[in-house]
Amino acid sequence: MTSFQRFAETCRRIEAISGSIEITGIVADFLRDVDVGELDISTRFVMGRVFPVWSQEELGIGPSLLYSALAKSAGVSEKDIENLVRDTGDVGLAASSALGAKTRRTLGFVEEEALSISEVYSRFSAVAGMTGKGSQSSKINKLKYLFSMAKPDEAVYLARLAIEELRIGVGEGIVRDAIAAAFNVPVELVERGYMLTNDPGIVAVTARSEGENGLLRLGVSLFKPVKMMLAQVAESIESAVTEMGAPAVEWKFDGARVQIHKSGDSVRIYSRRLENVTASLPDVVRAVKVEVTAREAILDGETVATGENGKPMAFQEILRRFRRKYNVSEMAQKIPLHTRLFDILYKDGKSLIDTPLLMRRQLLESCASSGILASQKVTSDIAEINSIYQQALDAGHEGIMLKNPASLYTPGKRGKNWLKFKPLMETLDLVVIGGEWGEGRRAHLVGSYMLACRDPDTGEFLPIGRVGTGLTDEMLTELTGLLKALIIRENGKLIEFEPKKVFEIAFEEIQKSPNYDSGFALRFPRLVRVRDEKSPDDCDTIERVEQLYAGQRT
Ligand code: AMP
Repeated sequence: MTSFQRFAETCRRIEAISGSIEITGIVADFLRDVDVGELDISTRFVMGRVFPVWSQEELGIGPSLLYSALAKSAGVSEKDIENLVRDTGDVGLAASSALGAKTRRTLGFVEEEALSISEVYSRFSAVAGMTGKGSQSSKINKLKYLFSMAKPDEAVYLARLAIEELRIGVGEGIVRDAIAAAFNVPVELVERGYMLTNDPGIVAVTARSEGENGLLRLGVSLFKPVKMMLAQVAESIESAVTEMGAPAVEWKFDGARVQIHKSGDSVRIYSRRLENVTASLPDVVRAVKVEVTAREAILDGETVATGENGKPMAFQEILRRFRRKYNVSEMAQKIPLHTRLFDILYKDGKSLIDTPLLMRRQLLESCASSGILASQKVTSDIAEINSIYQQALDAGHEGIMLKNPASLYTPGKRGKNWLKFKPLMETLDLVVIGGEWGEGRRAHLVGSYMLACRDPDTGEFLPIGRVGTGLTDEMLTELTGLLKALIIRENGKLIEFEPKKVFEIAFEEIQKSPNYDSGFALRFPRLVRVRDEKSPDDCDTIERVEQLYAGQRT
C-alpha cells in the first residue's frame, strides 16, 4: 500500500513549482510509484477528486462540516478554525496549524501505522455513504478520526481533499500527459480513453497493466457517461453547406444537454458535466421508458423546459430542475421537461461512435418514437435551411445545428462536424487598453486591440481579451487613426493605450480564463462599432460580465 504521506509530499512539491512540464514529471513519478491497487484512487486524488465524476457517490462535506470536524480533532472552537482559515486563506494550512502537535501519529501512539491512500479513500467512501438523520454527526466523527491519524503536513491535503478543492493546479491535461509519460503509451490513446470512459483512474490502470492494446480496447459502456461531442460556430449557412454538402439540419434547442443510459428498466441521466442527475428528472426517465424501445442504449439529446405558452423557459429554470434534491415531483409539475434525442452512441451491445451520423440516425429512429426525437432534415437548399432556422427562432429556440452527415461521434471534441448557427449574443461595451502593430503590409496599422471591462470598486480596467480578426484594412486604418493619439507606451509591437475609447463588442460566448485579469475571455469577439458617445466610466463592469456568464448554458 502507498502511504498518504507520499501523496502529500507530491502535492507539496507540485505547489512549489509552476512549470507544467515539471509538474507533469512529478505526477508521472507518483503514478508510477503507487501501488497498482491504489492507482485509480491516486489518479483522482491528484486532480482533487475523491470519486469519479459520473459516480453516484458524493462526499457531501461542506466547509462548516469540515470546520466542526477540525475543531473536534484539535480541541478548539469552530470559531478558532474559521479565524485560522481567514488568516491563512486556506483550509489546508488552517487544518495543519490547528492540529499541530495534537495528532496521534505525531504523539507516537500509532507511529507504525502510516495512513495509506486506500484507507483515506475507504473512510471518505464511508462518509459518502452516510445519509439521513444523524448523518452529520457521524460524518464529523469519521473525519475526526481521519484527522487524528494524519500528521500535520498530511492534514493540509486531507482537509483540501475533503472539500474536493486541492488547488495544486493539476487538471485533465497534466494528468493525461503524466499517464502517457509514466506508462510509456501515446498521449492520443490516453486522451481517447479519457473521452470514452471519463475516468482518469481507469485509463491510468489500463495504461499501466495492459499498455497500448488495453487502451485501444477501452470503449463506451453503459452507465459510464461519455464526454459529449460539441459544436463550433458556423460563419454562415452558406459556408456550412459549402463545407458539408448537404448537412443534417436540426433545431438548436434551448434546453440542457442530457446523456441517457438505458438497460432494460434501468435508466440513468447525466448532465453536460456528466453528473448523474437521474434522481432530479423522474419525468425524463419515464418518457425514456415509454418512448425508447431499445433494450440497451446510450442516447444524446437536449431536454427543454416548456412554459405555458409552449416556448422554452429560461435556462435557469432548467437548472432548478437539475439541482433539485427534495420535492422533486412538485418541481417537475412546475417546470415540465420535454426531451429531444438527436443521437445514439450505443445500442444493444454495440458501440456506435464509429458509425456515420446518418446511420446512427436510422438506428435512433428505429428504437425511439417520433415524440422524443429531434426532427432532422438533410438538405443543401439554403432557402430551406433558412426557413428551418426561422422556425426554430419563432419557437423560441436558439438557432440550428448543421451536422456533417458522414461524421463519426467524437467524444469531447469541439470539431467542425457539428456547426451551430444562431443570432449573435449580447454585446459588451469595453475599453481599449492596448494593441499590437500588424504584420507585413499591415505593419503601420494596429492589427488587434486589447479590451477591458471596469471594476467599479477599484476603478481599474480588467483585460478580457482581444479583437482583431475579421477587421478589414479600411476599418483598421480608421481605428488606427482614432487611437494613435492615445498611445502611452510601446514595447516592440505591443502598444499601451490611454483607456479612453469604448468599443461595442459582440461575441459568441464568455468563458472562464486564467489568461486575463478579469478571469474571463470572449469567444469569437467581433467589433460592432466604436461608441464615441460613451466614456470609459460608462463601459460594462466585471459584474455584468459575471452575470452574462452565469446566464449562459453550461
Ligand atoms: P454550445 O453550448 O453553444 O456550444 O452548443 C452546443 C449545445 O447545443 C449542445 O451541448 C447541446 O446542449 C445544445 N443543442 C441543442 N440542440 C442540439 C442539437 N440538435 N444537436 C446538438 N446539440 C444541441
